[in-house]
Amino acid sequence: MTRAIHIVRTVQDLRPRIAAWRQAGETVALVPTMGAIHAGHLSLVTLAKDKADRVVTSLFVNPLQFGPREDFHAYPRDEARDSAALAAAGSDLLYAPDAGEMYPPGFSTKVNVGDLTEDLCGAARPNHFDGVATVVAKLLLQCAPDKAIFGEKDYQQLLIIRRLVRDLNIPVEIIGAPIVREDDGLALSSRNAYLSPDERKIAPLLSQTIHDVAVDLAGGRGADDAVVAARFKLEAAGFRVDYVAVRDPETLKPLYGPVKRARVLAAVHLGKTRLIDNVPVPLAG
Ligand code: AMP
Repeated sequence: MTRAIHIVRTVQDLRPRIAAWRQAGETVALVPTMGAIHAGHLSLVTLAKDKADRVVTSLFVNPLQFGPREDFHAYPRDEARDSAALAAAGSDLLYAPDAGEMYPPGFSTKVNVGDLTEDLCGAARPNHFDGVATVVAKLLLQCAPDKAIFGEKDYQQLLIIRRLVRDLNIPVEIIGAPIVREDDGLALSSRNAYLSPDERKIAPLLSQTIHDVAVDLAGGRGADDAVVAARFKLEAAGFRVDYVAVRDPETLKPLYGPVKRARVLAAVHLGKTRLIDNVPVPLAG
């Protein structure tokens, strides 16, 4: 039988539990999520268990990171299902604050990480990364973990959080985790639930296309040329392309011509669903 997971909803209840583990000499890893837990999230919990003695998972659908016309209200929420899955994966504690706990009346601080947040997803989603940086800074200060795990699925977000932690001297180690995919290559995402059966059939073309870009780049094809071809292929298949980009893997600066090390990143719309994905160059494995 799966053991129940303990749920706390306030910073006041969270801190003494973490302090007790610390006093017992145990290390703590935090896995921030917005719920709608899938195998990608659970892989982060597994990695966290490997890296620390105790795992805290946070579940908070952060209103600050959604634009006015985005899916904040429609975002899938099922705490009972999520908490059972997290317990089964071995998370020790679920921190599930409500919006009033995270942003009490009068809350006015925003965290802005600068240049890294303005490009790629930041260009299409103004203020999104300020919302992410603000809530992640708060979660790290509320939990004070030794380590925090973030997926490479949100590659730009991972780099922004690394920069945030470095710039503000937050004493935590940020660990990136590889992307978990369906058998057909589609990166797992809570938003995949929005896809119609027909869209779901087309969706894997996103990962296939950026994978092909990575193979072409490794074979010496110029970045600009590869990006144009990828965009054309995706549009022909029915995607609305936000961006396909070849970037420096640390700075996200644009790369042109032949490249040795890079990250291929893409964001597309399929019907009403926005999908993102990325792969390294050279490809791993
Ligand atoms: P979210 O609940 O979408 O905010 O995601 C919470 C964490 O899970 C983030 O660090 C994501 O990057 C990570 N994540 C989401 N999807 C995947 C995936 N398919 N593989 C690995 N990590 C993921």
